[in-house]
Amino acid sequence: MHTSSKIYVAGHRGMVGSAIIRRLKAEGFDNLVLRTRQELDLIDQRAVEDFFAVERPEYVFLAAARVGGIHANNTYPAEFLRNNLAIQTNVIHSAWKNGAKKLLFLGSSCIYPRDCRQPIKEEYLLTSPLEPTNEWYAIAKIAGVKTCQAYRRQYAFDAICAMPTNLYGPNDNFDPQDSHVLPGLIRRFHEAKLRGDEAVAIWGTGQPLREFMHVDDLADAAMLLMRSYSREEIVNVGSGDEVSIAELARLIADAVGFRGRLEFDPSRPDGTPRKRLDISRLEAMGWSARTRLQPGIAGTYAAFLAAQHDPVE
Ligand code: GDP
Repeated sequence: MHTSSKIYVAGHRGMVGSAIIRRLKAEGFDNLVLRTRQELDLIDQRAVEDFFAVERPEYVFLAAARVGGIHANNTYPAEFLRNNLAIQTNVIHSAWKNGAKKLLFLGSSCIYPRDCRQPIKEEYLLTSPLEPTNEWYAIAKIAGVKTCQAYRRQYAFDAICAMPTNLYGPNDNFDPQDSHVLPGLIRRFHEAKLRGDEAVAIWGTGQPLREFMHVDDLADAAMLLMRSYSREEIVNVGSGDEVSIAELARLIADAVGFRGRLEFDPSRPDGTPRKRLDISRLEAMGWSARTRLQPGIAGTYAAFLAAQHDPVE
């Protein structure tokens, strides 16, 4: 990959895609092909094929997906399954057909079995049942992994797969219902502080453990893999920053300056009990995450506040 290589980042307005764009621009890449959702609907197979036939990007970062937290996954199972299957199948197929040199597909740690041995190694994929609250998304992402592997085997297409742990950072979705826990709680604590509320509700028991990684670290790993990894085995990307949801809530309350009580709501689902990734495969390539959770949350809260004053759209 050279700074003049033609690079398409699918999903460049999202948290992951925008982090990859920041990183590419910082490194001087200046031949980026970008399309908003209004300009190119990735679910539309013909539109995707026309786009690739005209633009013929050399490198593709596939960071477009229908994503959301535990509530969104449970509420929109058809969209999580169908939209993700369509987006990834269209992009991988057209990239290969139109001569792309390499494609990086982004999955998720939720592809691994619910009651997986910890930390989770890549080879534990498909060894036992999935977590029911996000199996629709997980099945789609597993199909994406298998699509990349199949295109490598049958067509020698250099499609690689990275599986990040729970991500957070600027440009995340801060929706109160449909977001992931970290941005969701940033908004909830912020609004509670402004209203002077005495308590904030936290879904579930607070006991589940989650590993959180700043999206800039994922962008860093994505660049490394795009430059120097060309195998069919998937690669975990994690930070080692594992906390319980209760601990996370306290960290966010501190960052936001909310001084009231936390009220856990066990009528809401906990999801998977734990999903810490083993990142030996990536560490063997000399990689480790740099952003620690506490400063990462502070920076994300600052980005949330800035976006409120200066909304993108
Ligand atoms: P998951 O990692 O796929 O389960 O995705 P989430 O980020 O949506 O949820 C992580 C954990 O945080 C689950 O145990 C949720 O029940 C818990 N949680 C607590 N409060 C919230 C909230 O306000 N939003 C979300 N999405 N999850 C919450």
